[in-house]
Amino acid sequence: MARAIIIDGKAQADALRGRVAAEVARLKAEHGLQPGLAVVLVGEDAASAIYVRSKGEQSLAAGMHSVTHRLPATATQGDLLAQVERLNGDPAIHGILVQLPLPAGIDSGAILAAIDPDKDVDGLTTVNAGRLASGQAGLVSCTPLGCLILLREILGDLTGKRAVVVGRSILVGRPVAQLLLGADCTVTIAHSKSRDLPAICREADILVAAVGVAQMVRGDWIKPGAAVIDVGINRVPFRDPVKAAQGKTKVVGDVAFAEACEVAGWITPVPGGVGPMTVACLLQNTVTAAKRLHGLA
Ligand code: NDP
Repeated sequence: MARAIIIDGKAQADALRGRVAAEVARLKAEHGLQPGLAVVLVGEDAASAIYVRSKGEQSLAAGMHSVTHRLPATATQGDLLAQVERLNGDPAIHGILVQLPLPAGIDSGAILAAIDPDKDVDGLTTVNAGRLASGQAGLVSCTPLGCLILLREILGDLTGKRAVVVGRSILVGRPVAQLLLGADCTVTIAHSKSRDLPAICREADILVAAVGVAQMVRGDWIKPGAAVIDVGINRVPFRDPVKAAQGKTKVVGDVAFAEACEVAGWITPVPGGVGPMTVACLLQNTVTAAKRLHGLA
């Protein structure tokens, strides 16, 4: 049986970063505008520090202005709000990202709400969720945007396609569904209370899994030839008993990849599919925000 085409998220992300860098160069040359990204990191979370470093390096590599503000874990809500307010008013900064999770005792919702929606390059403010839901131009969170860019790259026009999104989180499922609706797909959003999930999934020309349950979507849930976007990131023990005994884990998606490859037309691997697109989309959002703030888009 034909095997699915594996969507190379890393190559797509490289290409997107290249397009972003070219646009940054054009904005500098033609308008004297250098898009600026500020990332705020609170505390010492090791994984967050790695993500933040990568965001800083990638934005500099794209020719952007990039600053990272590190606050100690003892920072108060007031300290963080004051930092966000300073960035809201800084004309050199067009994108603000507060790295989550925040330390206990800080109200993440209140911090996100304080970010100027026109600088909210993570697309997490209620204003941007509302703009997306009502079809207005806004800033869309990076992982959903990455999913849509990948789908457009492989399928082109998405008009009329049946899309099923499994997962309805604010962060991934809902915005992905809104983007697909905006691209004129017929969209079903499934979740933990959906009945007969395999039958719902089998209707999908485009199947997006954003669940957080390792390898839940089986091969026989997939319509032959469908495009499968696996957003899930799940750590599971190795099958090899020696590695498992050493406590080693590997990352798998929400889709049973080997089975799905026998049925799908296209599929994103995990890792190496949606994940690499996320930071590239953050850079793109920062350029978009800079252009809008300067009346150039
Ligand atoms: P959430 O836990 O916030 O949401 C999970 C969603 O899946 C919920 O809507 C839930 O339904 C649904 N769900 C859970 N179990 C089932 C089930 N058995 N059947 C059907 N639906 C189910 O997760 P996120 O949306 O934040 O993330 C989803 C996955 O994507 C995670 O693995 C996460 O790590 C990954 N992720 C990857 C990113 C990347 O860059 N690649 C970025 C962000 C997330 P209900 O609402 O009914 O509870």
